[in-house]
Amino acid sequence: MKTAIYLDYNATTPVDKGVLDAMLPYFSEKFGNASSRTHSFGWIAEDAVKIARQQVADLINCLEQEVVFTSGSTEGINLAIKGVWENYQSKGKHIITVKTEHKAVLDTCKALEKKGATITYLNVDREGVIDLQELKNALTPQTILVAIMYANNETGVIQPIKEIANVVHTNNSMLFCDATQVVGKINIDVEDEHIDIMCLSAHKFYGPKGIGALYIRRKDPRVTLFPQIDGGGHERGLRSGTLNVTGIVGLGKACEIAKLDMWDDSARISKLRTRLEQLLCELPNTFINGSTKNRLFNTTNICFQGKRSETMIKKIPNIAVAMGSACTSAVAEPSHVLKAMGLSDEDSYCSIRFSLGKYTTEAEIKEVIEKIKAVANI
Ligand code: PLP
Repeated sequence: MKTAIYLDYNATTPVDKGVLDAMLPYFSEKFGNASSRTHSFGWIAEDAVKIARQQVADLINCLEQEVVFTSGSTEGINLAIKGVWENYQSKGKHIITVKTEHKAVLDTCKALEKKGATITYLNVDREGVIDLQELKNALTPQTILVAIMYANNETGVIQPIKEIANVVHTNNSMLFCDATQVVGKINIDVEDEHIDIMCLSAHKFYGPKGIGALYIRRKDPRVTLFPQIDGGGHERGLRSGTLNVTGIVGLGKACEIAKLDMWDDSARISKLRTRLEQLLCELPNTFINGSTKNRLFNTTNICFQGKRSETMIKKIPNIAVAMGSACTSAVAEPSHVLKAMGLSDEDSYCSIRFSLGKYTTEAEIKEVIEKIKAVANI
């Protein structure tokens, strides 16, 4: 049987062989607890964690002391937003975010609204980009945090983070950036872009699932977060719990590989993505959702007007793509991202996200174009 074609790399990625090889010894012979200070098993694990922390820091240009390991971005987002909320309430209770954020951000903000936070949800334009003037107008002396994602998981649209950081800092507020879809794909420099807090997740860039990191700025300003998990005081008291050494080693290796391969991968993948969307957009009433100017090189979200994506996807079971709607209940709901960009519910139901990765081949893209065109023409 022919194996399926995977074009859902924004959902998750396979573990790179080099990452797997780096991890394997830490399941068995090097199984020590990184907090065991009295023997070599612990020291070996601790050394591995130290190397991985540096590998993460090297990828995003920060200090190793600014990296806290988490179980992934959902946890990082919770620690960042709730951690700021609990520590900075004497300054204010206002947080700003965007309507197109990931549910992990939106639901965390909703939870804080119940505790007395005032949340402003910024709009995006038809391209999926925020308006800097709207952000400026929303900031108040009580704004403690602005939470804006680097690039959107559904459309790949990139926000102008450096300009956003300038505006936010002029107001003496902090910027938290969900960079889950970006780290490992394009170069991020937290110093240059002046991001204060940023989350990343290994499984989005060929590392294992269940491990990620939160970058927390130490200087200019020094950010302090209120911990969300109490326990043994691991990760300088910010995230208690025995360290997932195997996962951490995998995350570190994934960062090292991404730093080396990122440019070559992006050039190759973006060519395939362009071919895919150009040929698919030859179909009548077919268009790309979101900005094509500032977008992740691997992602395209296409609306096939009048053709329900659910029906199309069912006809091509060997092609793994994502719908522009979410099955959060028995009935699929239109995507909150596409809706915020002004798409009708019907157009959202007719949209498909294709996300390519480093194992995507030319032959696969050719086959996907043929099959999608065939089902769209029925
Ligand atoms: N933020 C974005 C933009 C994402 O794409 C995802 C994963 O889908 C998350 C957060 C959650 O990440 P994790 O799976 O590491 O919890």
